[in-house]
Amino acid sequence: MIAATSLSNQPQEPARWQQALADAITDPAELLSVLGLDQGSLPGMRAAARDFPLRVPRGFVARMRRGDPFDPLLLQILPTAAELIARADFGTDPVGDLGSRQGAGLLQKYAGRSLLIATGACAVHCRYCFRRHFPYDEETASSHAWQGALDRLSADSAVQEVILSGGDPLSLNDRRLAQLTTALQDIPHIKRLRIHTRQPIVLPERVDAGLLDWLAGVRLQKVIVLHVNHAREIDGQVVKACQDLAGTGATLLNQSVLLAGINDSVEALSDLSEALMAAGVLPYYLHVLDRVSGASHFDVQERVACDLIDQLVARLPGYLVPKLVREVPGMSSKTPVTKSP
Ligand SMILES: *Cc1c(COP(=O)(O)O)cnc(C)c1O
Ligand code: SF4
Repeated sequence: MIAATSLSNQPQEPARWQQALADAITDPAELLSVLGLDQGSLPGMRAAARDFPLRVPRGFVARMRRGDPFDPLLLQILPTAAELIARADFGTDPVGDLGSRQGAGLLQKYAGRSLLIATGACAVHCRYCFRRHFPYDEETASSHAWQGALDRLSADSAVQEVILSGGDPLSLNDRRLAQLTTALQDIPHIKRLRIHTRQPIVLPERVDAGLLDWLAGVRLQKVIVLHVNHAREIDGQVVKACQDLAGTGATLLNQSVLLAGINDSVEALSDLSEALMAAGVLPYYLHVLDRVSGASHFDVQERVACDLIDQLVARLPGYLVPKLVREVPGMSSKTPVTKSP
């Protein structure tokens, strides 16, 4: 029997999430006007968006405060003239991705886990993204290139976990996702599937019956690592999406980036942990910013970051305090950030 949900993904009738994705705001002037903001910053926005375009789903914009140019959700996605300031210590490949390639689409940096760049597409463009300069066109394990990545995963019996990343792997439709996980399940040494995604947050429509059917059917152990930076990103629809994902048997974790002016206060971080917990998601990592060019205005000093964690420890149960880490090229894991003695 063919479930009605699988029919909804046929090309002739895009699913609701695909329509919402296509309907995302990409014009800076429209974003300002929807939020009732002054158009004065438009030239700088347009210049910054030329390099890395604006993209934000309307549902995410609806969670922003109208008339507030410093809204913490807005600042994550708003192209600004500050991005055009070049700094020698901020580069285009800050975490050494290009050096860790194992052929197109597969990154292997750490023992036992391989990261598959399943697609370059994202529902939202985060201005601080460490992959904002990544050459996705060359590096994506697109359908025809998946075979090479799958062959390499089969040949390496040390790989126990495959991380679907990108871009956002849930930009792929359910049929493509199922093709990929069916192939991964056939590799005997792979035990776990991890999915790094921001889509259930910025486009909760994505967590529909078709996606849930696919995920529930995956026999590997499942871990979903979400990406939320501020408590206000989590509304009722996002909580529902998280609950539905957990209902498939997946473990839900979150990673955040510490961002100046967005979540660099103990209140913002503790509200975030509480809101995640209320949605059934545990904080995993708090990343200090990767030094990607165009994002230097988001940087928070390590000393300040450590103080924030100390204050969180004093306020929250241990399981609601994320691990503060930096990604250092060439290291065999993320590097804990601690106060220098
Ligand atoms: C961050 C990352 C991982 C995951 O690391 P964990 O510490 O297991 O979360 C795996 N592979 C690559 C290439 C990464 O950048
Ligand atoms: S969703 Fe993730 S990969 Fe996509 S732009 Fe944002 S931070 Fe980058």
